[in-house]
Amino acid sequence: MARPKRWKSCMSENLLTMLTVLGVLSGVALGFILRASKSTAWSKRDIMYVNFVGDLFLRMLKALILPLIVGSIITAIGSLDLSLSGRIGMRSIYYYATTTVTAVILGIILVLSIRPGVVSTEGGVFVVDPGDYKPPRNITTTDTLLDLVRNIFPSNLVQACLKHYQTKLIMPKNMTGVNSMYDWNIDHEYHDGTNTLGLVIFGIILGITIGKMGDAGKPLLDFFTSLSDAMMIITNWVIWLSPLGVTFLVASKLLEINDFGVVVGTLGWYFMTVLLGLFIHGFGTLSVIYFVCTRELPFKSISQMGQVAVTAFGTASSSATLPITLQCLDKMGLDPRITRFVVPIGATINMDGTALYEAVAAIFIAQLRGIEMSLSKVIGVSVTATAASIGAAGIPQAGLVTMVMVLDTVGLPPEDVSLIIAVDWLLDRFRTTINVVCDALGACIIEKMSRGELDAINARQQEEAVELTQLSKTEA
Ligand code: ASP
Repeated sequence: MARPKRWKSCMSENLLTMLTVLGVLSGVALGFILRASKSTAWSKRDIMYVNFVGDLFLRMLKALILPLIVGSIITAIGSLDLSLSGRIGMRSIYYYATTTVTAVILGIILVLSIRPGVVSTEGGVFVVDPGDYKPPRNITTTDTLLDLVRNIFPSNLVQACLKHYQTKLIMPKNMTGVNSMYDWNIDHEYHDGTNTLGLVIFGIILGITIGKMGDAGKPLLDFFTSLSDAMMIITNWVIWLSPLGVTFLVASKLLEINDFGVVVGTLGWYFMTVLLGLFIHGFGTLSVIYFVCTRELPFKSISQMGQVAVTAFGTASSSATLPITLQCLDKMGLDPRITRFVVPIGATINMDGTALYEAVAAIFIAQLRGIEMSLSKVIGVSVTATAASIGAAGIPQAGLVTMVMVLDTVGLPPEDVSLIIAVDWLLDRFRTTINVVCDALGACIIEKMSRGELDAINARQQEEAVELTQLSKTEA
């Protein structure tokens, strides 16, 4: 009799995940049915109508990101003592660095041994229709890296909630396009899109300050704790829209795609190389790291992250998935002081899937163009792919934008991004899933490693509370 009961509780616990998976499958079915129902291509307006419900779901998630990131980080750091936040911070940095570097190395090994660019060109001349692709802006690698550092220090916090800094290079009138971009005039603009990195860093600093202020900082800490708790309650409501939201997000994306033949045809080898890399990294490397750090197998934790993985796949955005990731980790019983610290920072800077893809894509394009990969170029690709993944925003296809920097290392023009654009929408969903699962697993690992220290803090806080009650009783 115990079996049906356990099965029932398992069903009800995983109901939302199953519905969301069903949402993805329904989205694929709906997309293909709608495609087949029209002999001509779908207009942008019609696609917008199909996407409407998905767009509403995304907007709701996006609205939660800013208060959640800032509130969570400040709460987590402010409620820990400084030396423990330092230790947790160091563990997080080790984890992010190890996973990103191993992802890049794996990508490079795979692309150099499978050689998808060479295999793809063997059948003839490689031609891909870039569709309505717009070439990225003119920018040097140095400027991209300096912009990344500038954005860490926003000059105006209100502006950082809306825009981020971007260097703009303008070709002087008397110059020809042949001149190096390093000789162009330097200007800048504030581009639409939250400067998440700047806000994360500010959150860390304010959290440390509140922690140091003791009782004087308590009202501010209570405010941010209450803010992030309120955001989590809203997340619990919004999450029930995920099955419907992902259905329409996936269906509308399928309507936008011009040619499916490209995925299995010319870009098939490249696609499979990235996918194989993501799979090995997700189930192999991360599992080994998890086991080494915790002496436990990760499969139970991974199996509880279904909702997170499906939402990441459906939205193609680590930032939009953040509220759901935190909610899932809360449900798994992880300490919020760890999850609120590790996950928002991870969603901003730790993107293993993106790092692996950037390395594979740049070397794939170099192979297509017949460029020899010397050791120094391979090292250059590793370093810039890592930087590009840190700099990429947690939004759909952000990796494609920072890719320009990696291409530059191999001596390729930014326009070459168009060679891989046809399959990027789909690869983006897979790499976002790995990005998000890696952050969630990181929170599990760091929580297990910090368990003893957290218990000691809990015991101390309890002792203090008891002493306080006794004191007030004696006074009364
Ligand atoms: N879409 C990815 C994310 O949000 C970033 C990228 O690789 O394009 O994690």
